[in-house]
Amino acid sequence: MYKPLILVVEDDKPIRKLITTTLETQGYKYHTAETGEAAILEAVSHQPDMMILDLGLPDMDGVDIIKKVRSWSNLPIIVVSARSEDRDKIDALDAGADDYLTKPFSVEELLARLRVSLRRIRYDSDKLQKDASVFKSGNLRIDYAAGCVWMEQEEIHLTPIEYKLLCLLAKNAGKVLTHNYILKEIWGSHTYDIPALRVFMATLRKKIEKSPSQSKIIQTHIGVGYRMLQAGEDSKVI
Ligand code: CA
Repeated sequence: MYKPLILVVEDDKPIRKLITTTLETQGYKYHTAETGEAAILEAVSHQPDMMILDLGLPDMDGVDIIKKVRSWSNLPIIVVSARSEDRDKIDALDAGADDYLTKPFSVEELLARLRVSLRRIRYDSDKLQKDASVFKSGNLRIDYAAGCVWMEQEEIHLTPIEYKLLCLLAKNAGKVLTHNYILKEIWGSHTYDIPALRVFMATLRKKIEKSPSQSKIIQTHIGVGYRMLQAGEDSKVI
């Protein structure tokens, strides 16, 4: 059976040990790095399936590592940091991190986030093989080629902005997209502000999340942004 290789970048020895022991018990392979320089070297030479990254490293800021890695790789990056401010999360996510965990964290939560990111890798490669023009999550189906959206058998009518928003979230399913990222992608600038984005999101959600008992398709990360669940992802994971 294929075992994913995970690169653990952490200069704090007890935390590094906690993470690697956890990975070992779950059957993951891992490499470790204690500095930013070593992390980049490892990422280039061993092509890991995922990176778990501490932001406070002795030689480099973790956000700069994310930017460097993103210049040549889509490797999923989960940040594990003591920095808990929204600004820090937003900087890391804007730089290209896939997820963000604040220390102290529970081992179960780290494993859940890992599973989500690994599913995204599988989903991305499946998607390349299958018909890439259709997105499915729960009862939601987007046909990109036809520009149509369905909930079960019912076609949903969206405004152009709502449709662009939905496609942006769907194409990045499993990832947290920051408000700034969404504003830039949809409007090409910051002409619209975050309150306006909230209004568009609210009307979009009303159309695709009709039943209150239904699990949410789009999650709100307060003060940070939004994230769409992937096909088959359990909303309880987060
Ligand atoms: Ca550190």
